[in-house]
Amino acid sequence: MKTCHVCGFDCENDAENCTVCGAELKTFEAYEQELREREEQQAKKAAQEALIIKNPVLAATVDNVVAAEIYKDVLRDSNINFTCDENEDAMQIVFGGGFNAQKIYVNESDLEIAQQLYENVVNAQMDFEDDFDGFDDFEEFEEE
Ligand SMILES: [Zn+2]
Repeated sequence: MKTCHVCGFDCENDAENCTVCGAELKTFEAYEQELREREEQQAKKAAQEALIIKNPVLAATVDNVVAAEIYKDVLRDSNINFTCDENEDAMQIVFGGGFNAQKIYVNESDLEIAQQLYENVVNAQMDFEDDFDGFDDFEEFEEE
């Protein structure tokens, strides 16, 4: 007998799927093993992410949503890991008309280059404003 780990039904030994609920039949031991492995992987991943930014320092406070997105792209392109204090929901509020400065944090060892990159973004934005003059053009930028 194989006992379904989902519904508990006792299936035939040669059955591959539970005849009641259709779940793939595994022994409880295999299922628990699988769960354990998944948990271990998640723990490992969390540990890696914690390592990536182990000492977050504030690189820039960006009060322009577009500039913040550009800056994040620049950081990604430069392989600089960063974190910020906005979640997706907060971004929605920002795009919906609210206004929040975003704080971008990077690893302490990346601080100098991150700040330099921010200068570049700010300078590029100023050129951008000179060239195109106006907020409508920024909206096109967003959709990129
Ligand atoms: Zn079942």
